[in-house]
Amino acid sequence: MNYAIANWKMNLPPEGIEPYMRMVSGRRRDHGTIVVAPPFPFLRDVAEQARGIEVAAQTCADQEKGAFTGEVAPSMIRYCGVGYVILGHSERRTLYGETDALIAKKLAVAIATGLTPVLCIGEDLRVRDSGQAGPHLAEQIHAVTQSIGNAPVIVAYEPIWAIGTGRNASGALCAETVGEVRSAIQRHWSRGDVPVLYGGSVTPENVQDLVTNGAIDGFLVGGASLDSARFLAIYDALAV
Ligand code: PEP
Repeated sequence: MNYAIANWKMNLPPEGIEPYMRMVSGRRRDHGTIVVAPPFPFLRDVAEQARGIEVAAQTCADQEKGAFTGEVAPSMIRYCGVGYVILGHSERRTLYGETDALIAKKLAVAIATGLTPVLCIGEDLRVRDSGQAGPHLAEQIHAVTQSIGNAPVIVAYEPIWAIGTGRNASGALCAETVGEVRSAIQRHWSRGDVPVLYGGSVTPENVQDLVTNGAIDGFLVGGASLDSARFLAIYDALAV
């Protein structure tokens, strides 16, 4: 199954939502599932406007309820009509100090609530240049093994050096690395059914190499997802 996930991050003004959803929603899903991930306050609006597409939150709490000021429980996300949650995004890891242990807790509580997590993993440039990307990614997969079980889960390989930088991985590098990710998933989770996506500066201009050579099951898109036409061009590239 292919996916194209639009991670709006903390972007798009409220008045941009309706025109965006009019473009993207109601599409025939012949070549994969479209998922839109808006900021929390817009989840319910977006879910109500979603026809034949899915909606994701960009993170969630590691607890189900209680005195956790500012946090949002997975059940509250479900209440908004949302089925997916992005977890472990590199911006959460690097800017907000999320560790593998915290991400494992978030995964467990999200899965228990019935959300499908999109687990982001990726290496920085120092790790890539030292030849340790494979082991690093395997460790990020290993660290959450106890949380996953047989639940539906999607993995997004997102090299940190490619996110928001305009420098995407080539199809060949993506295929090589995603091969390592798939074998780590098999080794640690005993799973061969987990879709693996690529994310990092994907655009309509560079998507073809990644589709043809990247050995992936779709994309997690940041910057280029803010323009609905550009996001749909990326989705349409999955048709080959
Ligand atoms: C992301 O943040 O998940 C991402 C892939 O961003 P961008 O496409 O802008 O690199």
